[in-house]
Amino acid sequence: MARETPTTCCYCGVGCGVIVTSDGGRITGVRGDPDHPANFGRLCTKGATLHLTARPDQRLLYPELRTPRGRPGRQLPWNDALDHAAGRFAEIIRAHGPDSVAFYLSGQLLSEDYYVFNKLAKGLIGTNNVDTNSRLCMSSAVAGYKRTLGADAPPCCYADLDCASLILIAGANPAVAHPIVFRRIEDARARNPDLKIVVIDPRRSETAAIADLHLPLRPGTDIALYNAMLHVLLGENRVDRDYIAAHTSGFEDLAAVVGAFTPAAAAEICGLPAADIVTAARWFGTAAAPLSLYCQGLNQSVQGSDNNAALIHLHLATGQIGKPGAGPFSLTGQPNAMGGREVGGLANLLSAHRDLADPADRAEMARFWGVPFVPARPGRPAVELFQALASGEIKAVWIACTNPAHSLPHQGEVRAALNAAEFVVLQEAVGNTETAAYADLLLPATTWGEKDGTVTNSERRISRVRAAIPAPGEARPDWRIAVDFAHRLGVALGHDGAGRLFPYAEPAAIFAEHRESTRGRDLDITGLSYDRLDQAGPQQWPYPAGASAGRQRLYADGVFATADGRARFVPVVHRGSADQTDVSRPISLLTGRLRDHWHGMSRTGLVPRLFNLDDQATIAMHPCDLRHRGLESGDIVRVVNGRGEIFLPAVETAGLKRGRAWLPMHWGSRFLSSPGANALMPAACDPLSAQPELKHAAVQVEKADLPYPLAVVRRCADVEAALALQERARPLLDAFPYAALGLYGRSSPLVVFRAATTWPLPEAGSLAAIDHLFGLDGEAGAIVFADPKRGIAKKAIAENGRLLGVRLAGECLALAWLKEAMAEDELDASLIRYALAPSATPPVGVAPREIVCKCADVSLAQIKAELDAGSTLTAMQDKLKCGTYCGSCLPDIKRLAAREAAGEAQAA
Ligand code: SF4
Repeated sequence: MARETPTTCCYCGVGCGVIVTSDGGRITGVRGDPDHPANFGRLCTKGATLHLTARPDQRLLYPELRTPRGRPGRQLPWNDALDHAAGRFAEIIRAHGPDSVAFYLSGQLLSEDYYVFNKLAKGLIGTNNVDTNSRLCMSSAVAGYKRTLGADAPPCCYADLDCASLILIAGANPAVAHPIVFRRIEDARARNPDLKIVVIDPRRSETAAIADLHLPLRPGTDIALYNAMLHVLLGENRVDRDYIAAHTSGFEDLAAVVGAFTPAAAAEICGLPAADIVTAARWFGTAAAPLSLYCQGLNQSVQGSDNNAALIHLHLATGQIGKPGAGPFSLTGQPNAMGGREVGGLANLLSAHRDLADPADRAEMARFWGVPFVPARPGRPAVELFQALASGEIKAVWIACTNPAHSLPHQGEVRAALNAAEFVVLQEAVGNTETAAYADLLLPATTWGEKDGTVTNSERRISRVRAAIPAPGEARPDWRIAVDFAHRLGVALGHDGAGRLFPYAEPAAIFAEHRESTRGRDLDITGLSYDRLDQAGPQQWPYPAGASAGRQRLYADGVFATADGRARFVPVVHRGSADQTDVSRPISLLTGRLRDHWHGMSRTGLVPRLFNLDDQATIAMHPCDLRHRGLESGDIVRVVNGRGEIFLPAVETAGLKRGRAWLPMHWGSRFLSSPGANALMPAACDPLSAQPELKHAAVQVEKADLPYPLAVVRRCADVEAALALQERARPLLDAFPYAALGLYGRSSPLVVFRAATTWPLPEAGSLAAIDHLFGLDGEAGAIVFADPKRGIAKKAIAENGRLLGVRLAGECLALAWLKEAMAEDELDASLIRYALAPSATPPVGVAPREIVCKCADVSLAQIKAELDAGSTLTAMQDKLKCGTYCGSCLPDIKRLAAREAAGEAQAA
């Protein structure tokens, strides 16, 4: 019987509420939860397609031991798998001490999962080697808040978007990375045309497109810009001297530093017009309520914590914090980066924002857990953790719900480290991530739709995550796996009492223990319980016992979380990026995100429709940089620096200054013949936050000498078949310097393969091998075209008048329209011969598709067809979902419907 389960989206830190429909143990749909205060019913394309990612056919269903690594493993019963893991960990700990093992977790885990892993490492084993991929996205924001405001606590809330008079968006692209926040910004702008929007981003991003002022600063120069803005505010007496005197310390030291950052000096450093810096400062200084939103552009930098502090200074100096519509608001990247921090899930933290470096905090936590001590030695943060794995200092690593063989910088080193490890456990929902190739033991974990617990979003709001369906196969909740392992490891290490330390039978018991650890702390949630969250809905912290609601904004009273209650200014100066461009690496390569993909695409990569907007990794470049290298848009280039090289097409873009290039970070070696962007990124980290500089690298871009192109488009019966084909075709990626695999599709799912190489083709990538892999080796229904002199060899196979697949070799001009036509099922028998035509334009009869709703990927033809068939606007929207996401196309759709209705009336 169909049932509905309210839960939370598992992608970004906006933390939208979703209602899941399930039937017979299968997830059948999702819709936005109208009562959730993060999204009020809206979802972005990623959230709205979550149900399509719930695919049991793609899951890791049983524990699997892989000896040797990288080969198909042997299925194990859970007891044997956990005994094996506990035995190996105990052996290594006994021989080399507790710091020879490590845990590498994820901001996608729930707070309850995190809590148990943290206690397991710091309380039972006695190592602080427990870090997480949140280190890669939020640790500079943590350091920025703690240094200035005294606690890792975003003072703002989403409601501030509605009452801000200036929104300054720095190093963030919410239009694609936090779409529901962006919708709220657009709504605020529609309600208040005077709302000013300033975007600080080296690239003219989708967000920058709506800015009143875009500052395309040189990468790594944020501090110079914010210091110069403060310089202007000081010079024009736009700072709040009373607020500074009453509520802050250290201003004079900072003022002395910013004296040197004149607009002219900063303009030189940042590559911006000085007048624009002055304008930004004046707008900020005169705004009734300025709100700053920031994310990875500030955080993923060797100066990440200084970047954060420099921006927060602007709010402290003007007293614009703790008020409606004002304050520094860090947007969290992952769904539970906040919750992980709350339970102490980083190598330098302890539960409830306690500090590992503080002996009193360690002693308090040891008493709370009932363990003799919490070790004082700091654990290894993410990048160092893998470096210690390479050097042999750490010998075993337990990786949960994350994919370091894609997401960490300097992939060459990371993969060597995983190879060097004595024992790698991977606890995952799927068994085919890049990291899975390095695992000795794979443990099947539950995932979105099957999990129960809590997450905290960017505005400190704790939401319930609920299971809609039972776990497939033998998958277990992440917290359960950690508890089961802890019990066995305790026995193996001769610790009595592991059962007492980990007595939990359900996540509510873990939440209750974590809640108690927050008593009297800045994030006190002693007034919350699962029951309370279930009855009253998601709540912000702090929410102490006796409270009737959480606190919407922090620091309204001007009392900060420091020892003396005063916020701190910290003198920060511009230092620059880890990588500086030079003659050999003249291009500043920036990384970023796309609207329809999430991180390494282990989830969004299961939905063909999510590839329709961007179906391949390309490097975006300025037209002059292309011309200077003799390149045309679409040419394959080699992007190289001392850390690695990758091959991919370059495309011309208008949004970048000369000397800058942009590459999305989603594509890794499951989709490309290289590890993608992170092959090139430096492992250099911020000295305070240990967050690596994943946003920028200096590179050279040169024309690749790969004159022979290849492409295959293969229609599949369903998504399951497409995913299976994609998996089978993966070895082809290794046969070519440039090769890419992806999905595409509307009515029919397609697998698309692209490659470029030199002639003759490698044996593993021969035409016969390719045809065989893609099921194009038969003669029945085949049309071939060959021009041996020019090395052109094309083949198309049709079945019942429908094109099944096309292989193009030597010339692939038709690929773009062919893919589009096959996705639409438009190529009927009479047009099939055009599949082999050497033409970049489609034949007459195959019209280019005019998309009306980009979010739902709905064309004008589809809308017209529905309306012609008599659908009402509502019925058509129910079916096609057009205009139901961001709503920006709704006026067009309504116009079409009105025109149709008027036409009908006329006809009548
Ligand atoms: Fe999910 Fe983020 Fe989209 Fe909301 S904005 S639906 S949390 S991906």
